[in-house]
Amino acid sequence: MTTLTSEFAVERVKKSRVAEVDFNNLEFGRHISDHMVVVDYENGQWGSPSIVPFGEMKFSPAMLSLHYGQAVFEGMKAFHTKDGSINIFRPHKHLDRFNKSLHRMCMPSVPEELWLSSLKRLIEIDKEWVPKTEGASLYIRPFMFATESRLGVKVSDTFKFVILTSPVGPYQAKPYRLKVENKYVRTAEGGTGFAKCAGNYGGAFYPTQIAREEGFDQILWTDSKEHKYIDEVGMMNVMFVLNGKLVTPQLSTAILDGITRDSILTLAKEMAGFSVEERKVSIDEIEQGFIKGTLTEAFGTGTAAVVAPISVIHINGTDYQIPSAGPTSFQLQVKQKLHNIRMGLEPDTHEWNYLV
Ligand code: PMP
Repeated sequence: MTTLTSEFAVERVKKSRVAEVDFNNLEFGRHISDHMVVVDYENGQWGSPSIVPFGEMKFSPAMLSLHYGQAVFEGMKAFHTKDGSINIFRPHKHLDRFNKSLHRMCMPSVPEELWLSSLKRLIEIDKEWVPKTEGASLYIRPFMFATESRLGVKVSDTFKFVILTSPVGPYQAKPYRLKVENKYVRTAEGGTGFAKCAGNYGGAFYPTQIAREEGFDQILWTDSKEHKYIDEVGMMNVMFVLNGKLVTPQLSTAILDGITRDSILTLAKEMAGFSVEERKVSIDEIEQGFIKGTLTEAFGTGTAAVVAPISVIHINGTDYQIPSAGPTSFQLQVKQKLHNIRMGLEPDTHEWNYLV
């Protein structure tokens, strides 16, 4: 157990906006909770954290992050458990990834004590914003950006670390129709794909927009050299049930190490009848899986959706259909299991829940 020693300067809102929120009809990211954490980094060290009302910030238009993209973020969730407590799902693993992303972008790491105490204090103060409705949660968005004001291309000397939160409902997207991308890339081996840096997302907008104009929902990203092996789907990791096994692309510098991916692989290894393969997965293999009838499930995994079913993959001019996932499908079983663990309905044997 880490001791939480940070001193927070807290300025509370005069009037909470929580009454304006319809918790039965939550649109992802629309409402941002009353307060935010703000911490500045300068002279090689972190300043003292403060919690202030969510609102506009002042900064220079010459701020380096706006020009050269030194900006990194995370996405995680907190849940109301059945006994009324609030838990954050796997904050240590999210911090580990945040710090890997920061390192890749030449930004200072966030100490564990600052991370945990910031999350804890913020959620304690805004606990009314954590939805109690079934399947809903509080989305947490920690991020950091370069704040030095200067036009020359350089690594910033100053940074701001901020945490926002937002109540979100259960994910209800229709199953995806996917385009296999064979022109654009999200990232490349040796690039920044394993980091959650802002530019990866901005760079993916254009190919995604083209795919949407062509009638697809999302892109199945392939490797940058040959467009032969699968990396990810949209902004999620991707998994297949092939020959009765759970198969997913192995991690590389081009793939984000998803916390949902890791959780699902861990649970799959414990669920009877599932062997797990983390390896290269080619488009050809998936096409053969369709032709032979051995591909029975395909889905994306991520914090927002948990699992997002895939209904069609368009390969070499053919729309290959995947039957819709029934209650005995792997994806729905594992989604339920994860839900039960987070809500305190099943033992948390991996210690993934961090109580606020
Ligand atoms: N890949 C990308 C590119 C993502 O942005 C995300 C969402 N963070 C994921 C995968 C899934 O990661 P996680 O399960 O940690 O949300």
